This record gives sequence, structure tokens and C-alpha cells, in this order.
Amino acid sequence: MNELTPYQKVKQFHKKFNLFIGDGKKLPKKEFDLGIRLIMEEFLELNEQIIYDHSKGLPSDNVEFIDAIIDLIFVLYGMLVRLGVDGDYLFDVIWEANMNKEGGVMREDGKLLKPKNWTPPQEKIREYLIKKGVLL
Ligand SMILES: [Mg+2]
Repeated sequence: MNELTPYQKVKQFHKKFNLFIGDGKKLPKKEFDLGIRLIMEEFLELNEQIIYDHSKGLPSDNVEFIDAIIDLIFVLYGMLVRLGVDGDYLFDVIWEANMNKEGGVMREDGKLLKPKNWTPPQEKIREYLIKKGVLL
């Protein structure tokens, strides 16, 4: 294990194999399409693993299931690397917003819903992009 964050590790992977790393200003259509295609591919691989084994109380093939989830995380971070935005900072923006969901109603299936007066993270994302000079 090294000290890099998951986002930094994905960026390191892009550097090592000369994959596209965005500057935050422009994302070529080809790279946009590739990033999305990789996400779709990994999502489909996860989809193939959505089989629950009631006798084990676990996903049917836990190895493949976990592999599919991490692969998906990897390509999701890869999309942020392509976009050239700080995945660690932006993850924290979303994390903080989620941590501020006190008072939100718990849906029947266990999903915590947004409380009234909850501040959505979009404004902070917008501020970040303005600071980066991408949005005016
Ligand atoms: Mg895979």
C-alpha cells in the first residue's frame, strides 16, 4: 500500500500508461466517450454479478462482485482524471453534503433521504470550476 489516495492512484495509472489526463479546461470528445464507455462496461460487469446467495448470506461470487465494484470505482475516478478535476476535493464536497443529511427521513429500504433545507453540493462544485477558470 502506498500513501496516495484512490484518486491519485488512478491518476498515477493514467500517467504510467500515457492515458489522457485532462487540464480541466477541455475534454476531447474521444476521451469523453472512452471514459463513459469504460464506466458502462464495468457497470455491466457488476450487473452480471448481482446474484445473491441466500444460503451463504453473500453475493454468489463475492470475488467477482468485489472486483466489479472496485473496477467501477477505478473507471469513475478515471473519468474525473480525464475531466482534469481534483477528485479528492470533489469527493469531499459530496461527502460533506452527505454527512449533513441529519434530519433526513430514512426510506423504507434504508436509503437516507435529503432533509428539508439540505444544501446540495452543486454550488460548491460550481465554485470549484469557477476558481479553476472553467466556468464564469
Ligand atoms: Mg472488470
